[in-house]
Amino acid sequence: MLSIVLVLWFITTGVVMILHSRHGIVASWREPVLRRPVLIIESDDWGAGPVEQASAISEIAGMLATFSDSDKRRPVMTLGIVLATADGEKTIATGSYHRALISRHTHGALLEAIKSGVEAGVFSIQLHGMEHFWPPALMTVSKTDDAVMAWLKAAPASLTEDLPSPLQSRWIDASELPSRPLSKTTVQHAAREEVDIFQEIFRNIPFVAVPPTFIWNEEVENAWAAAGVEVIVTPGARFESRDGKGRPAGSKGPIYNGQSGEHNIIYLVRDVYFEPSLGHTASQTFDALRAKARLGRPALLETHRFNFLGSAEKKDRSLAELGELLQMAVNNYTDLAFLSSEKLAMILKKRTPEWVDSQFRRRLHVWITRLGEIPRLRKLAWLTGWILPVGLLWRLTA
Ligand SMILES: [Zn+2]
Repeated sequence: MLSIVLVLWFITTGVVMILHSRHGIVASWREPVLRRPVLIIESDDWGAGPVEQASAISEIAGMLATFSDSDKRRPVMTLGIVLATADGEKTIATGSYHRALISRHTHGALLEAIKSGVEAGVFSIQLHGMEHFWPPALMTVSKTDDAVMAWLKAAPASLTEDLPSPLQSRWIDASELPSRPLSKTTVQHAAREEVDIFQEIFRNIPFVAVPPTFIWNEEVENAWAAAGVEVIVTPGARFESRDGKGRPAGSKGPIYNGQSGEHNIIYLVRDVYFEPSLGHTASQTFDALRAKARLGRPALLETHRFNFLGSAEKKDRSLAELGELLQMAVNNYTDLAFLSSEKLAMILKKRTPEWVDSQFRRRLHVWITRLGEIPRLRKLAWLTGWILPVGLLWRLTA
């Protein structure tokens, strides 16, 4: 009698748990299991804006070049490039938006520093956007918001990081909240234009795109894919709008590493936050790398240019923290791999056997470990008793 009750209990609660967390359960199984710890530093917002970026970029490149993994690969910092910002003077004089593009004339030293870093294998460039805002939305808000008007007056020297957060999104009209979507033809035109300009400046079609503030939709993805983009960096979900309070909303997900979207676009997940100027330390970030390795996942760090601009003290502290992290990673993992996001995406897409484990036992073990990371599922497993059989299976497959 007791055994029948137990069996019924496990069947019923098991079905409830599966239904409850089905997306996470399936995604955890489908996501490739990496054989080695992979570390990538993803850095956004470089390009348009202050010229002091050139010296910061050179210093970062110099520091990265002092490290290598066991295959002699250098650590790669991906640079999410912003191609333009507002030309404040012309925009205000004419009353209509004028763009200031980066070029050899305005940002010669920066472009040179980026190029030599790419050649040295420590940088990989990615498209972040034409502007780090949607120009018509910026224009609308500047008419009623004094701070935004002051920002526009100081452009192109002003930093987009100083704009109100909703305005920093490119693929929505956040001039009013909740935000409104852009029309499909507008998106198609803007995406094509930014890919073309990127290609003119850097001589390559961007392989990887990073949506500003991680707000974008299917139309943006399709337009990028049609223009030649193959990979999109995500935070593990796709936010499509801003709500009435300006917060990212309309989440679609979960998204996992190596998942393919429409038009075979490959997604990566970047969710380790390493902003030393906001207090993130090397040792915390190393713990995150260790956790990712346990889960068979790459660690994609998110670190913005603001950590390396401004006071010399802030920049030095950020560089020192990054250096310490790399040192800890190299010291603790002989099999650590430094990759670019581009290379990682191709490995995941092709399930390259050298990098991706297909052995059933290891996949099962990592899958159970990943399920333990789904907070509600873990709690339910404890409450229902499922933790016992699943935990036993986890031990047996270790
Ligand atoms: Zn950004």
